[in-house]
Amino acid sequence: MIPINIFLVVVLGVFVTAISHEDRARDIVSKLTRQEKLSIVHGYGQLPYIGQTKAIKRLNITALRMLDGPQGIADYVNKVTCFPCVLTVASSWDIHLMRTFGEALGQEQRLKGSNVHLGPDVNIARVPENGRNYESFGEDPFLTSNLAAQYIKGVQSQGVMATVKHWALNNQETNRSLCSSNVDERTQWEIYYPAFKSAVDAEVASCMCAYNKVNQTYSCENDNLLNRDLKQKMGFKGFVVSDWIATHSTSKSVNSGLDMEQPGGVYLDYSLDSAINENLVKESRLDDMCSRILYSMSLVGLLDHPERTGDLLTDATSEEHNKLSRTLSEQGIILLKNEKNLLPLNPSVATKIAVIGFDGHDIPDVAGEGSGHVVPPYVITPLQGIKSRISNNSTVVTYTNGQFVPLAVNQAKNANVAIVFVSQNTAEGWDRSTVLPRNQDDLVRSIVAVQPNTIVVAHVPGAIQMPWVDQIPAILFSFFPGQESGNSVSSVLFGDVNPSGKLPITLSPINPLKTKLQYPGVDNQVEYSEKLLVGYRYYDALGLGVTFPFGHGISYTKFEYANLEVYASQCGGHVSVMVDIKNVGDREGTETPQLYIEFPPEAGEPPLVLRGFKKVTIKPGQVYKVEFDRLEEIQHLSIWNTTLSDYEIIRGAFGVHVGSSSRDIRLKGGFINQL
Ligand code: BGC
Repeated sequence: MIPINIFLVVVLGVFVTAISHEDRARDIVSKLTRQEKLSIVHGYGQLPYIGQTKAIKRLNITALRMLDGPQGIADYVNKVTCFPCVLTVASSWDIHLMRTFGEALGQEQRLKGSNVHLGPDVNIARVPENGRNYESFGEDPFLTSNLAAQYIKGVQSQGVMATVKHWALNNQETNRSLCSSNVDERTQWEIYYPAFKSAVDAEVASCMCAYNKVNQTYSCENDNLLNRDLKQKMGFKGFVVSDWIATHSTSKSVNSGLDMEQPGGVYLDYSLDSAINENLVKESRLDDMCSRILYSMSLVGLLDHPERTGDLLTDATSEEHNKLSRTLSEQGIILLKNEKNLLPLNPSVATKIAVIGFDGHDIPDVAGEGSGHVVPPYVITPLQGIKSRISNNSTVVTYTNGQFVPLAVNQAKNANVAIVFVSQNTAEGWDRSTVLPRNQDDLVRSIVAVQPNTIVVAHVPGAIQMPWVDQIPAILFSFFPGQESGNSVSSVLFGDVNPSGKLPITLSPINPLKTKLQYPGVDNQVEYSEKLLVGYRYYDALGLGVTFPFGHGISYTKFEYANLEVYASQCGGHVSVMVDIKNVGDREGTETPQLYIEFPPEAGEPPLVLRGFKKVTIKPGQVYKVEFDRLEEIQHLSIWNTTLSDYEIIRGAFGVHVGSSSRDIRLKGGFINQL
């Protein structure tokens, strides 16, 4: 038996002598020649990986190979799983599932020989029309922060770097490479920065600077963004990589904090060499760039395991990932309304089902376009999913894509339930209209006019307008569902899965951005004059009605909320909130109670801000005690103080609102923060 004191000395000794990632990186940099250093701070063309650096073989330093993207391996690579888009997975509000999703993304990247994953995209859905909202986590900084951290940990657990993007304020596609997002400091730190800070806290390896300017300076040469806010204030230790062709200068970029240019080497190759020779950039800064890259490589294990496990031709798919794709999609489906319990469908009643709409079969919209586009290995269309779910051979299922409306109307009339699949696609580089294309609104109205049992299923890239909402008894809403579209939606339609998704965005016909200066900008100046009033914060502050609020999503069962307890210690050291959730229906279901905080009025915050959520599965008749803890954590009860240039904890009377959505608050309480 080893005496405990000797044991501790040995363990602590090993601990103390273990070399840190920073020291290891610095040590390697001290052995590199200038040319070797230059060779790892820029890319080498786009193929075969979308981004890559050179290997330094003599020191066993592997090349970085980068692939998009957030919905699965993108960049038109084959033999990969097409998962649902991030906005769909975010609709699950499930941190554990998000972690599993991240692990699966990392695993497929590794199998494809890539060691840098170009995601997550944590830009906030400020603009409902933004063509890339499907790639990120919605409109709320707290939800985005919590989910993105798990995604990053999942990816990096597979020995692959994650890249948080696009830093910063890249919230629209219109004029994205020309426009300046003009924003005040408080809004930056309270709305647009928290998810990046959370990524830094999760030890994200790399951060991609954006195409747009922020307060008149390009993101990739913006000293305030890169050096001050990201590296100094947030403490980011990894490297900043430019978005593709978003570098505009050599010494300005490098001195402002850019560490790597991709995909080529226009500014950070020979010209960087010359800039160092001319003393425009210090050699120590090049060392810092390389140290940051090597630090991140060490962090995820690439210095210990430099060998590749596969290449672009490897089949990265698996039965397990097909199942995961289906689960992610099922968990991200949101039941927006369900009058007269039309859903779940009872196969003995729904004996004639009319499936209508292009998305139902002919052109299923399963993935977005652009750098995040994933080539699905197969697609189960909704029609296929429904047909394979129906065991009763006597059920008749008809299909028409709805292009010829009289035919669709006729089929709906002759059925006892119509399911209209509406959809819209979107592409990076463009914003989109929130009005459904191809006259689908008219199609929906024509169908419900003849068939009262009409269900609408929407597969869309973000917020849409629903002028028919009051006439439709049941609506299922989702974003891109991935390759298992048909199986996941039929599981929910027939009740094999009880829906539990919640909206990560607000659905409203009123656009929160009222002026052209706010969106799309005038003369490429985009004014964030709404400040903190983004998403539900805007509608709440103005007391406006919405079609469906942020956080909304119902179930086939019902939940009651009771016994709110708020605990705040006298000295302000600890705040927690507890609530009992009871399943008062007759089937098992999953609910996500949400905690919204109301700041004291003098803090100047929007009426309610999300500060907690917990997803719980509850059997019928059972009660689950949900605890929201750690509310005292600095950002939760703070605002950004521009004089201090830091978060400032607010003291005084806080309101606590717990509910099933931002507009379905079931219990209220409060506490005095004395910290
Ligand atoms: C996108 C990035 C992407 C990069 C590489 C850019 O157009 O903005 O999100 O990672 O391309 O494909």
